[in-house]
Amino acid sequence: MNLFDSAYNLLPGKKALKNIAWALPSQFFYGRTFWNYYNFLKKSQWWSKKQLRQYQLTKLQKLIYYSYKNVPYYREIFKKNAIVPDKIKSLTDIERIPLLTKEIIRNRFNDLLSNDYLKMAPIKRTTGGSTGKRLEIMSSFNQGQLRKAVVWRYRNWAGYSFNERGLTFNLPHRSPAGKNLIYENVKEKQINFNIDIFNEEILKQIVSKIVSFKPKVIECYPSRLFILYKYLKKNSIIMPSLKIAVTTSEMLYSEIREMIEQELNIQIFDYYGQIEFCCNAGQCPEKTYHVADEVCILEIIDKAGQRVKNGEIGEICGTSLDNYIMPLIRYKTEDLGIINMESCSCGRGLNILKNIVGRTQNIIVSPNGTMSFPARYFNIQLLKGIKDMQIIQEDIQSLKVVLVADQDFTDTTKSELIAMLRKNLNYPFEVQIELVDHIKRAVSDKHLLVISKIAQYSTHA
Ligand SMILES: [Zn+2]
Repeated sequence: MNLFDSAYNLLPGKKALKNIAWALPSQFFYGRTFWNYYNFLKKSQWWSKKQLRQYQLTKLQKLIYYSYKNVPYYREIFKKNAIVPDKIKSLTDIERIPLLTKEIIRNRFNDLLSNDYLKMAPIKRTTGGSTGKRLEIMSSFNQGQLRKAVVWRYRNWAGYSFNERGLTFNLPHRSPAGKNLIYENVKEKQINFNIDIFNEEILKQIVSKIVSFKPKVIECYPSRLFILYKYLKKNSIIMPSLKIAVTTSEMLYSEIREMIEQELNIQIFDYYGQIEFCCNAGQCPEKTYHVADEVCILEIIDKAGQRVKNGEIGEICGTSLDNYIMPLIRYKTEDLGIINMESCSCGRGLNILKNIVGRTQNIIVSPNGTMSFPARYFNIQLLKGIKDMQIIQEDIQSLKVVLVADQDFTDTTKSELIAMLRKNLNYPFEVQIELVDHIKRAVSDKHLLVISKIAQYSTHA
């Protein structure tokens, strides 16, 4: 019996009940709110551009009027900038509203909440840690359902329908299965592997489970798909049931996409979004990224906050049209993208994002073959005395940590940091710590927690 089977046997509930749950269609597990959103989105994707813009404008005007009346932060900045809700008459009028940064959300959290937020069943959501700094925002249950409906539309575009078997990799600290390595998500008909560190033994167990489960779809970050692909290739394992990969959250490099698609004989579809749910886009059957215009306004802006011209690169900035608990208007995502004003041969009127860049999530590779994603474990705000930090892997044996310290930084912090790194990365790396005044940012303002100078998606293991 392998590790996953032992974990499976520990899962609560009787096997017979679980079999019944697996046999029930997915549709059974979703509520009315989800279906209303989903059915709407299935229709609205075929609306004309004009109809979509009009719908966005109506929603934007309503949100602005609401924010002006009920959200202290917006009331203040609208007054300061002489913005009157009645004057927002077109989608481009949104450019008069100052941009919202992560820093503003941290500093003005309470002022960004609607006066009525408690009446709307607020849910706190925390963003991932690709920069090492978490961000908290508030939204509603309904917005969570809307997000699911949008994701299901992306899944449909990829050829993934309800009730088809899938598998996914989860982050252990976020998984509903807690410390268990495997979680059966009967609702989504998926098996989740709760794993963040990959080695040969774990991959062997994962693959044996996948071979018997026969999933059609794999949903995961591109870097994990790449690790799986490498293992399958090295061991000449084929998985004929697997047809589709749905990826998200990281940059999908075209050479890697083509290599995996060809060799595993699957089609990869990617979508872009964030926990903040300010703007998102996913690939249609033509592999064009379409923006979910019904739920957001996506702008590509330059350093001065002005929209860039068609085809130019800029920062992605988004407005969620449905978050009334904590309206996020013109939120700077720190991701880079290129807008494309052309149309797609699939016939959808939804805006097109030509490319998304800068969603890099680097892997740390150790000599014993483990590969890990430390951004998932680190929240540098928890380490006393560290204002900013970046881990650079220059070779396989050692790591350089560049950090900005404040007056609370001591030798104890230093040893704690080194111990924490070695424990989470599962290898006794040589760690060199370098104190600096500030950390150089990439093209966008985003700075990543991990930079690997060993090749991206390293082939060391
Ligand atoms: Zn399309």
